Amino acid sequence: MGGIIIKNIKLFLTTLLCLTLIITFSLNISANEYGEIYETDVVVIGGGVAGITSAISAAENGASVTLLEKNPFLGGKVLLSAGTYLAPGEVNADNEVKYNQPKDLLNIILNDHDEIDRLNRLIAARSIETFSWLQEQGIEFHSPEASGFIKTTESDGRDVAFPLIERAEEVGVDVFIETKGENIIKENNEVIGVEAINTNDNKKKFKADSIIIATGDFVANENKIARHNPEYSELPVGSIYSSTGDGLTLATDIGAATTKMDEIILTPTLESKSYINITSLLRTSLGNSIIINHDGERFTDESQECQALSNEILSEMEANNSDYMYMIFDQNTIDNIPYAEKYIPHAFEGESIEELSDKLRVDKDILKASINEAEKGRKDLVEQPLNKLEEPPYYALNIRPGILATKGGLKVNDRSQVLDKDNNPINNLYAAGDVINCKFDSGYQLGTLLTQSFVTSRTAGIESAINSLNK
Ligand SMILES: Cc1cc2nc3c(=O)[nH]c(=O)nc-3n(C[C@H](O)[C@H](O)[C@H](O)COP(=O)(O)OP(=O)(O)OC[C@H]3O[C@@H](n4cnc5c(N)ncnc54)[C@H](O)[C@@H]3O)c2cc1C
Repeated sequence: MGGIIIKNIKLFLTTLLCLTLIITFSLNISANEYGEIYETDVVVIGGGVAGITSAISAAENGASVTLLEKNPFLGGKVLLSAGTYLAPGEVNADNEVKYNQPKDLLNIILNDHDEIDRLNRLIAARSIETFSWLQEQGIEFHSPEASGFIKTTESDGRDVAFPLIERAEEVGVDVFIETKGENIIKENNEVIGVEAINTNDNKKKFKADSIIIATGDFVANENKIARHNPEYSELPVGSIYSSTGDGLTLATDIGAATTKMDEIILTPTLESKSYINITSLLRTSLGNSIIINHDGERFTDESQECQALSNEILSEMEANNSDYMYMIFDQNTIDNIPYAEKYIPHAFEGESIEELSDKLRVDKDILKASINEAEKGRKDLVEQPLNKLEEPPYYALNIRPGILATKGGLKVNDRSQVLDKDNNPINNLYAAGDVINCKFDSGYQLGTLLTQSFVTSRTAGIESAINSLNK
C-alpha cells in the first residue's frame, strides 16, 4: 500500500516537473535575482486598443508576443468611448463600402494646415485598409447617415475592444494583466527588454527583440498636466484613471523625444457631475441636440469642432457665472443613437417643452424659439437639414467642457519607431496610439483618435515583427 502511494507521488511529481518544464519551455521563463525572466520576440506595454492591435499585428506577422497591462482588464479608454472611427468612405444599406480619396480625410483632419508630414499622410492613406482589417477582426461598424466618414459601432467602444481581445487570444498573445512596465532596458545603444512589476510586487523581466509602448496619454496625471498645461489644470478630466503617462517617462528616460506636450484636446460636453463624456454624435444632424444657456438661448454652433465649441461654452459659463450649460435632445436622438440611452439617468426629463423648461427654470418661450431656430448658425447643414426636436420625452443634461486627451507624446516616424532628440530611431523601440503625439493639427474631430491609434499600432506591430524576425 505504502509503495503504491510513493509510486503515485513519484508519478505525480514527475508529471508536475514535466508540465512545469513544458510551460517554462513554451514561455521561455527562467529566473534570477530580479525575478522571473521571460523571452519573447515582441513585448507590448499597455493593453488598450493600440497595444492589443500592435500585439495582434505582430503575432499575425510571425512574432511571439507578450502584452503587459497594469489594469486588471484589457481595453483601456476605448471602453468609455462611442467607438467611432474616421475613414474616407461610405457604407451603404447593404453594408458595402465605397471609398473616397484619403486626401479627403487629410483635408478634414488637418483643416488646411500646411504641415502635412509623412506620418499624417500614412494615417490618412492607411485608414481605409485598417478599417477593412478591423472588420476582419470581427468589429461590426456601420455608418450613421450623418457622415460618410464616421464609422461607428452598434453600441459603443466595447464593440471595438471585445472582438480585438478575443482575437489576441486566438493568435496566441501571452497576456499579463496587473503587470506594470517600470523600466525599459537599454544596452549598447539597443533596447533589449522591459522590467515590470505585478500587483503582488513580483518583479519580472521580459527580454525581447522589439518593444512597443502603447500606454496611452497623460490626461490623468495631475502633475504632468499642471506642468505642461497650467491653463487647463483646473478643468475636469473625462477619461480613464490609468492614463498617467508612464510610457512617456519610460521612453524619455532612455533618450526619446517628445513634442506638443503643452497641447490638450478639450471635449465640450462632459456631464457636469459624473464627468461622463457626452459623445459628439449627439451634436451631429443625427443627434440634433442643441446647447443653451440659463436663459434658454442658443449661443453657439453646436456642430463645430471640439476645441472651438469648448471655448465658447467656457466663455458663456463665465458670462452666466455658472458651472454648466444645458444640452437638449429628444426621444428621436435616443432612437437614432441608442448609445445615448446611458445618459438618461443623468438627465432632466419632460413630456413637453413646458415641463422641461420648468425643471430647468428657463423661459419656455425662449427655449421653444431656440429649438425652432436650431439650424441657425450651423455650418454642417449643407446637404441635410436638421430634424427639429419634437419627439417627447425631451431631455436636458448639465454639461461643461473638460479634458478628453493630451496631444503631447513621443515623436515617432512613419514606421512607428520612437525617435531620439536628433530625430534618429531608437533601436528596437516602437510606439503607437495616444502615447505618440497627436498628429492632427486642427481641433479634435470625432473619430480621428481611433484612426490614429489603429493605423500607428498596425504599423508598430508589423514593423516590430519584421525587426524581430531579422535578428
Ligand atoms: C470618453 C472618451 C471617448 C472617446 N471617444 C472616441 C471616439 O468615439 N472616437 C475616437 O476616435 N476616439 C475616441 N476617444 C479616444 C480613443 O478612445 C483613444 O484615442 C484610444 O482608445 C487610445 O488607445 P490607446 O491604446 O493608445 O490608449 P489607452 O486606451 O489609454 O490604453 C493604454 C493602456 O496602457 C495601460 N498602461 C499604462 N501604463 C502602463 C504601464 N506602465 N504598464 C502596463 N500598462 C500600462 C493602461 O492601463 C491602458 O489600459 C475617446 C476617449 C475618451 C476618453
